[in-house]
Amino acid sequence: MIPHPPLKEPSSSQLTSFLRQIPKVDLHCHLDGSLRVKTILDLARETQVKLPANNIKDLTSFVQVSPTCQSLSEFLQVFYVLYPLLRTPQAIERVAYELCEDCAKDNIRYVEVRFAPMLNAHDKFSIEDVLNSALKGLARGEKKWGVQADVVVCLFRSHSTKENRKAFEAAKHFWASTPTSGPRVVGIDLAGDEARHPTLEFSEFFEEARSLGIPTTCHAGETKGTENLKAALELRVQRIGHGIHLMEDQKLLKQVVERRIPLEIGITSNVRTKTVSHLQAHPVRAFHDAGVRVSLNTDDRGILGIDLTHEYGMAVSLGFQPKELIQIGLESIEHLFITPEEKMGLKEKFQSEIVRLNKRLQN
Ligand SMILES: [Zn+2]
Repeated sequence: MIPHPPLKEPSSSQLTSFLRQIPKVDLHCHLDGSLRVKTILDLARETQVKLPANNIKDLTSFVQVSPTCQSLSEFLQVFYVLYPLLRTPQAIERVAYELCEDCAKDNIRYVEVRFAPMLNAHDKFSIEDVLNSALKGLARGEKKWGVQADVVVCLFRSHSTKENRKAFEAAKHFWASTPTSGPRVVGIDLAGDEARHPTLEFSEFFEEARSLGIPTTCHAGETKGTENLKAALELRVQRIGHGIHLMEDQKLLKQVVERRIPLEIGITSNVRTKTVSHLQAHPVRAFHDAGVRVSLNTDDRGILGIDLTHEYGMAVSLGFQPKELIQIGLESIEHLFITPEEKMGLKEKFQSEIVRLNKRLQN
């Protein structure tokens, strides 16, 4: 058996510094996967939840996925340490606010934050309150750090239809009562273990969202086979989360290119969940060359111990030139669930920075 090449860490410090300066959007970012280890410790102390370790060094191995993780199911287990900590308005608001600060360090100008509010809600903390707390934290973060942020509500594959209906109704309500400025709910996603709960079980939600004009995305093609991808395309989602196994079906791939459906790629996430066997097997370059629209995202920056600059470095390891990454960042704006005017505003902000970066590349 040929040994896999080691996971190549991307870059020289000079390249990393350049990649950090590229203006970016992150359109696949889970709130509960983006916690700082220090914050996890603080929240556990405040809520008196017992953690498997009480200092940052030891706790890191419990709340970050190790390179030996064998599957998406194993990866998802890590989240269960975190859910009990995210059951108060203060906790949700804090982690949303801190996420904006972390995004600012990456020069992320827009982040679409997703989470399944049912996982945080309980008798004394309604789904609506969960969403309001997140929006409040993001609004504070947006003001302080200049990172525009919105929310995508995740339905969760292992939840019952009744539970998902509650989350869906809340998403509908928030989406319909759009505030004139600041963070808001912009779309719906389906997350969780796709191997155990196929996409078609959730058709009613996608069909209803479509009839109402609510934008949708769907995690699909992260585990083996293309059935969930096929279903997502049939349900006419606007974007696909990951879509890695698309390469197995050239007909589907052609459809994705023709319908201009972007894939939300998380390279490190795909390596850690064993969606790809090793880094060099990641198809993002092949997707790009085949004409698929791709965006680069963190997915779970806390659990993976990464930031988006790191992911841009991973893309360099896979053959992307910095110039192409600048372009991918700019084009990703097109796939956001915001108004054409807002997209135009973001593009204008990006352009002036891009001119400066391109000049640096020429020197
Ligand atoms: Zn995800």
